Amino acid sequence: MTAQLIDGNALSHQLRSDVAARAAALKARGVTPGLAVVLVGDNPASQVYVRNKVKACADAGLHSVLEKHDAGLSEAALLARVDALNNDPTIHGILVQLPLPPHIDAQKVIEAISPAKDVDGFHIASAGALMTGMPGFWPCTPYGCMKMLDSIGYDLRGKHAVVIGRSNIVGKPMALMLLQKNATVTICHSGTKDLKALTLQADVVVAAVGKRNVLTADMVKPGAVVLDVGMNRNDEGKLCGDVDFAGVSAVASHITPVPGGVGPMTITMLLVNTLEAAERSAGLRL
Ligand code: NAP
Repeated sequence: MTAQLIDGNALSHQLRSDVAARAAALKARGVTPGLAVVLVGDNPASQVYVRNKVKACADAGLHSVLEKHDAGLSEAALLARVDALNNDPTIHGILVQLPLPPHIDAQKVIEAISPAKDVDGFHIASAGALMTGMPGFWPCTPYGCMKMLDSIGYDLRGKHAVVIGRSNIVGKPMALMLLQKNATVTICHSGTKDLKALTLQADVVVAAVGKRNVLTADMVKPGAVVLDVGMNRNDEGKLCGDVDFAGVSAVASHITPVPGGVGPMTITMLLVNTLEAAERSAGLRL
């Protein structure tokens, strides 16, 4: 079998066109969706991420503000900025780029963001909404994975999904989203005893670990769908995922590449969440 690619760039293009059309409709009603991106310090990777997010907003016709602060910004000053953005009617979504400098309690800052503007979906209220199936913002990366499954018309009901990784931003919310779509879900982590025995039973595998070759061809059931969230560097310094792409492509039915898979979907879902925050503020959705 040669797996079909689930192309995150092509799907993002479609979804971002839809965001642009909905943003234009909202603008015509006097509301321009706005995202504030807050960066503290000069982490090079974070600088690239925030630049990409701001550019994606501009391309889709969303208003965005990039606030850059020195690494020495105090926690109190950052909390004050978050409070100001919570009260700014031109801003519908607030994203504080992680990681924050060690003297700032990231969880405290996340909890200071109004749940109505929590477009990253990291607030405890967003996590609770996902857990209980209530309306709220879903974390962008697993949300993007769900859109990728939708894009191939995959019905999760009764399927066994194995999620490798249990972080609060990817693994756990991913598992809850799959569960909400009626999959039977297994969550694996560094303490899992026999990962291969579990992944071999899976109809869907999501790898979200951050280590190369966590999933190899011998660990995948023929015809399974494989989503690779990992972002690593190979020996040549090139971006690669957690999955042995060449090997697993020969066994899986569908696979996401790295780059060009889940990565672009993460920013796309940030745009979707920001747009939906603006639609909610305009009373157009729950
Ligand atoms: P994380 O917080 O470091 O979590 C990694 C998880 O993997 C942990 O739950 C850990 O288990 C588990 N793990 C570690 N080694 C394992 C092993 N050998 N077998 C099974 N599980 C193992 O990472 P994250 O933030 O979730 O990110 C995961 C990866 O996705 C990273 O490469 C990150 O860069 C990437 N990522 C990509 C995007 C994107 O847009 N494409 C977005 C976010 C993250 P324990 O809990 O037991 O430690």
